[in-house]
Amino acid sequence: MSMKRRITLSLAMTLVGLTAIVIVIVALQFRDYGIESAKDKSKIVSELVRDGLTVHMINGIMDERDFFMRKISSSRNIDELWVSRADSVIEQFGEGRKGEGPRDAIDHKVMRSGEAIERVIEMPDKVYLRVTIPYTAHYMDSPNCLDCHIAQEGDVLGSVSMVFDISEVRQSGMLTILKIVLAAVGILALVVLVANFFINRYLALFESLTDAIKKGQEGNFKVRVETSLKDEGGDVAHWLNNLYDKLNDTIYHVDRRITILIGGIRVKSENPLVRTRQVVDELVAIYKFKKTIELDRNKEEIYDRLVAVIRERLEGSDFALFEIDHQIGNRSVVYSTQEQWPCNLGSEESSDHCRALRTGVNVLSDDFDRLCSHFEGHGSLEHVCIPFRVTERISLLVAVSAASAQELEAIKDRIGIFRDYLEAARPVLESRYLMAILRESSLRDGLTALYNRKFLDEFADQVAHQAARSKVHYALLMLDIDYFKMVNDTYGHDVGDVIIKGLADVLRESIRESDLAVRFGGEEFLVMLYSPTEAGALEVAEKIRTTFANRTFNAGGESLKKTISIGVSMFPDDAEGIWKVIKFADIALYRAKNAGRNRVMRFSHDMGPTSEAY
Ligand code: GH3
Ligand code: MG
Ligand code: MG
Repeated sequence: MSMKRRITLSLAMTLVGLTAIVIVIVALQFRDYGIESAKDKSKIVSELVRDGLTVHMINGIMDERDFFMRKISSSRNIDELWVSRADSVIEQFGEGRKGEGPRDAIDHKVMRSGEAIERVIEMPDKVYLRVTIPYTAHYMDSPNCLDCHIAQEGDVLGSVSMVFDISEVRQSGMLTILKIVLAAVGILALVVLVANFFINRYLALFESLTDAIKKGQEGNFKVRVETSLKDEGGDVAHWLNNLYDKLNDTIYHVDRRITILIGGIRVKSENPLVRTRQVVDELVAIYKFKKTIELDRNKEEIYDRLVAVIRERLEGSDFALFEIDHQIGNRSVVYSTQEQWPCNLGSEESSDHCRALRTGVNVLSDDFDRLCSHFEGHGSLEHVCIPFRVTERISLLVAVSAASAQELEAIKDRIGIFRDYLEAARPVLESRYLMAILRESSLRDGLTALYNRKFLDEFADQVAHQAARSKVHYALLMLDIDYFKMVNDTYGHDVGDVIIKGLADVLRESIRESDLAVRFGGEEFLVMLYSPTEAGALEVAEKIRTTFANRTFNAGGESLKKTISIGVSMFPDDAEGIWKVIKFADIALYRAKNAGRNRVMRFSHDMGPTSEAY
């Protein structure tokens, strides 16, 4: 129900209620008034009748009392009038006229009790008041009743009964009520008209306000509140319009500015308030992400966070993150949700990709196109490939698969925002790459590009702990070139360097990616073989020895061959400390030298301490 109808209805109901109360009061008032005035009249008439009859009696013209009675009963509103004699009077004076004895039960009752009785008789068309008043004997009256009547003081001598027609009172009451109703209807109409005139304008303002607030909630602040009111209602409209103007200006300004920052954030809401909030939320999230990764020590920690971003912001459930080093042609799998995922897509290069998964590094120099095409058109899986160049040298590549075309579209929609995260990460990643390169270079030997002693000092314990945790063991090979001083002395340092590099090459060719080769000292190398059997380790050592021994070097036009001696120990089989086991390899090497060089010697605990000179 509209507000206007409600107000009109409540006004009308109030007026109708008030009118009804007035009508009830007036009706009751009229009834009481009619009865009271008839009662007053009945008293006068009863006294008149009694006195008249007494006068008739005194004058001895009692026989003519009918005329008197007729005259009185013909007076206005008296419908009936009769006098009744008490039994004592009948006994003394006879029955009198016919029917002068008590007529009905009321007469009898009044005679007996000496109390007057009044009754209102309501008929559909008429209202009567019946009053019966007793005549009581009093010696104080003048003339003294007891002079003529044989009666005691207080005896009822007779009664007078009157029936008054008081219908007129009811009619005039009804007429008054009708007038009141008419007046009420008139007033009601007037009130509704006047109320409508005043209320309408407030209602129009109210509706306009409701509409404006509703639109405001949807972000439309261009709407205006219209009103012709000049009072407080007009003020409300004015202030709301002012507020909306300011909000509109601000939102427009913010909206325009924010598009500069928005980047890949795609907000779909039409409501500028919601839009602004979403953009600000996204910007804050990206800002926090950037602040967080600034504290990350290395690129691996940042990659972990990027993986979380792919999961949460890109909402990818199946994906792989690759790092591509364009300079050395390395591509490594940073993370993949399913170990087999890039493998089971099945391409002519699948074996390489699976190798990449196993080892974490793929030495093929795939560019984006080739790598991305690898994820397309395989099976029912839908894919999207997101390449991102971080620096001249390093790119990241995210391949995401979706279960359906719709899911893929939803992921594509979020690529923009994901790129914003990547952009935020770019400067931090750049600095971490640089740090990694600097660090790497400090851990590598300049001549052979193998890890140096510093690397071993830093990571040997780490490798040992990891090995202990994952129940992995290592074979340690300590190598030293036989009679190397002689090369330097005979052919010069440069030839010596070539031979050292030659040995490094032999080591690189002979070991796997999971193994480690370190330039331990001048022409002394340490090789850590990942989880070989003892026989396997000795075999590798033997292979290194023979390969090197068969290599021919060019020394000032002459061809030169060199040999190496190798000491072998097993970690943690020989001892628990890694440095102790390295020492054992050195002892075995010393033994190999002493035993005539150009040989592999397995360490045994009865070998005793080594000496610096061998
Ligand atoms: P052995 O069979 O007992 O090992 O005899 P050796 O002559 O090889 O003796 P040793 O291993 O003690 O010799 C180390 C020599 O290696 C000493 C040093 O002149 C030489 N050397 C160390 N570093 C380098 C290097 O970087 N370049 C060259 N050319 N020579 C080096
Ligand atoms: Mg030597
Ligand atoms: Mg040496």
